[in-house]
Amino acid sequence: MSSIATDPAPSTLDEESLSQIRESVRALCARFPNEYWRGVDRERAYPTAFVTAMTEAGHLAVLIPEAYGGSGLGVSVAATILEEVHASGGNAAALHAQMYTMGTVLRHGSAAQKAQWLPQIASGAVRLQAFGVTEPTAGTDTTSIATTATRVGDRYVIQGQKLWTSRAEHSDLMVLLARTTPKELVARKSDGLSVFLLDMREARGRGLTIKPIRTMLNHATTEVFFDGLEIPADNLIGEEGKGFRYILDGMNAERILISAECIGDARWFVDKAVRYAKDRVVFGRPIGQNQGVAFPIARAHAQSKAARLMTYQAASLYDQRRPCAEEANTAKLLASEASWQAADMCLQTHGGFGFAEEYDIERKFRETRLYQVAPISTNLILSYIGEHVLGLPRSY
Ligand SMILES: Cc1cc2nc3c(=O)[nH]c(=O)nc-3n(C[C@H](O)[C@H](O)[C@H](O)COP(=O)(O)OP(=O)(O)OC[C@H]3O[C@@H](n4cnc5c(N)ncnc54)[C@H](O)[C@@H]3O)c2cc1C
Repeated sequence: MSSIATDPAPSTLDEESLSQIRESVRALCARFPNEYWRGVDRERAYPTAFVTAMTEAGHLAVLIPEAYGGSGLGVSVAATILEEVHASGGNAAALHAQMYTMGTVLRHGSAAQKAQWLPQIASGAVRLQAFGVTEPTAGTDTTSIATTATRVGDRYVIQGQKLWTSRAEHSDLMVLLARTTPKELVARKSDGLSVFLLDMREARGRGLTIKPIRTMLNHATTEVFFDGLEIPADNLIGEEGKGFRYILDGMNAERILISAECIGDARWFVDKAVRYAKDRVVFGRPIGQNQGVAFPIARAHAQSKAARLMTYQAASLYDQRRPCAEEANTAKLLASEASWQAADMCLQTHGGFGFAEEYDIERKFRETRLYQVAPISTNLILSYIGEHVLGLPRSY
């Protein structure tokens, strides 16, 4: 079994190389202008052409070590890519999981699992975009999930339901968390949970059903039903019963990358508001000349700059393999609030036009609101900081 400590540390890049990556992402995103995003949003369609272009450019394989066909780069580089996608007006939600969900396999998978899957994920031949943790009854209380995996000979039988499993219809594989030992029989409630790498291509129609959920944003999210689905026992990742720890392992990277998307959104909202506030003339002068309009823009800019510093500090610590839970959580808190305040400011700056689809603000407004709920809600981040950073009494 492998762990993050035994894999090679990611390469770091100098500012010039990072700037080249930024330019190349910007050039790619320019091929997918606002009309493209408006269209897929209106149809609630998966942005396949964009995902394919990002895959072919190698941007989704940055975190996979070179030995498995990736670039062997760090979370700082992945964050830079996602930030630029969002700053361009796009949305990386359709593809970001291809970057980091494989971390569970990389850190905890067997040599055979890594050799089989990582090169295919790196090339994009296989999509690992689905992450099945949340369930309808457990909510954020992950150790109370009710989906079970029962060992029968050389197979596991999966029974239960997941909710909000995003991109399941557009993914070949799913990282699935299920209970293998009942909660009543384990010393700690976080024991007895296991992680599986589920091949959905084989499972659909044999006990796996996926149903899309239409939401206020274009997110390709679904509910997934397991009805006696049999999977090979060697789909288990790592040791049986240790899955909760494996999932927690990946959360800092996810929080940092989501923060980077928020920063990209905040940049987009501030740029858009600045341009409009300079151009729009009411009462014979640009609206940006009124401090009542200018100050919220300046505040949103300042808040996103501060959140950006925290995001890249967390990314740098992560890439150095140093503890970064406080920084990753703080980044997620500040960045999701900064993007939301920037969204609200941008809408207000545009007055009635902010509500018109063709201005793209209402779409980005809906998209960026998600980040205060998923992948982890603001209250749970505050709980983490209160308890684990400040030593306040545990609340739940
Ligand atoms: C569009 C979308 C995509 C998603 N994609 C995925 C995915 O791909 N895979 C996946 O596994 N999950 C996914 N999720 C689920 C997401 O991670 C959860 O919605 C999120 O973690 C919140 O959980 P919940 O919805 O069950 O809220 P609940 O746990 O029911 O909480 C409801 C509210 O109560 C608050 N709350 C609950 N307990 C406490 C407490 N102890 N103290 C203070 N406040 C508390 C929460 O902060 C929240 O505001 C997605 C969700 C959405 C909406």
